[in-house]
Amino acid sequence: MSLTRYKAKRDFSRTNEPKGSRSRRREIGERFLFVIQKHAARRLHYDFRLELDGVLKSWALPKGVPTVQGEKRLAVQVEDHPVDYADFEGTIPAGNYGAGTVMLWDAGICEALEGTPGAALRKGKLLFHLDGQKLKGEWTLIRMRPSEDRDENAWLIIKTQKDARAISARAEDRSVVSGRTMKQIAAEADRTWQSNRNQSSRRPRHQRAGRVNLNKGRAIRR
Ligand code: MN
Repeated sequence: MSLTRYKAKRDFSRTNEPKGSRSRRREIGERFLFVIQKHAARRLHYDFRLELDGVLKSWALPKGVPTVQGEKRLAVQVEDHPVDYADFEGTIPAGNYGAGTVMLWDAGICEALEGTPGAALRKGKLLFHLDGQKLKGEWTLIRMRPSEDRDENAWLIIKTQKDARAISARAEDRSVVSGRTMKQIAAEADRTWQSNRNQSSRRPRHQRAGRVNLNKGRAIRR
């Protein structure tokens, strides 16, 4: 629940990532916001984030989210991120932690299907339904038993219940907030999407254009 690790890794005078000043609670009952950011860092991966307890619980998925029933993929839990990170799309400058291009790849509502999400995560198993713009259906996150070559941060994300609709090549390389490709985001390094819902009128035009629209995700923010 603390952002200490998040802040320790970053120099906010050198990156446009959110400082984590906002920690508004947006979840209602067992439904809460989720985002997936495609992140071309040293290695391409996908960051899966669930808004819980005033932070974004976060996992790095080296191979993304599985869509075929029964398929399992590694999900490495990483430090909690501030909730305003859910709006971030842009470029983390070279030399900074996680340097590279970040695309808001998917966003929407996550619903815990068994018990409260906080308790489920502490127990190491969360069964949930995603209603995103790209991903729809049921998945399960399970913490792996720590072993010699595996620490307690290793989880699996498993496609449960049935196959999800496969992601088209076009959708794979398309931001859900700006419609941009990874290449376009990288080429427009000055355009950063970042927590500008409340200050849009004071922001330069090119940043205002990037107001996040999380579709149904917005409904629970009001
Ligand atoms: Mn990342």
